[in-house]
Amino acid sequence: MNGTSLKLTIELVPSTSWWKSLRAKMPKDEWDAIRKSAYARFGYRCAICNSKGRMHCHGVWEFDDARHVQKLKDFIALCEMCHYVKHIGLASVKASEGELDYNEVVKHFLKVNGCDMRAFEKHKDAAFSRWQERSSHEWRVDASVYEKLRSAMLDKKQHRLFEESL
Ligand SMILES: [Zn+2]
Ligand SMILES: [Zn+2]
Repeated sequence: MNGTSLKLTIELVPSTSWWKSLRAKMPKDEWDAIRKSAYARFGYRCAICNSKGRMHCHGVWEFDDARHVQKLKDFIALCEMCHYVKHIGLASVKASEGELDYNEVVKHFLKVNGCDMRAFEKHKDAAFSRWQERSSHEWRVDASVYEKLRSAMLDKKQHRLFEESL
């Protein structure tokens, strides 16, 4: 049982270094274009709990535990609380720094999933042990989804520059 029956799940990415360095290098306008297109695609609502407000852009990964390939599937729009559940490790760091109320994150999980504290703890433990197991392997990253988005954007940009130069 990996908790897939839950609407809102915890997703811990074993190796974030690649994504972090890519994000650091990614030009701001490029990231803005990616996240804005995700917000528009989801009608400016959270893809999980349907709430409105300030949106976050979340990368969805698929893990092949036999071949150790992590594949970027999509970028989706999430509300702040759903996004903190996804990255609950980060949420607890922020909470320890006084930037966030961890209980609010847990409450959001219980509300969206309509479950109790026991179900949350069980899901969280499973997510962390899966993360620990995955972190003991080297992962190859397949980000072809991003590469495709990127080249489509560059095409558009070049097209625009070309038209502007006419
Ligand atoms: Zn949400
Ligand atoms: Zn995310």
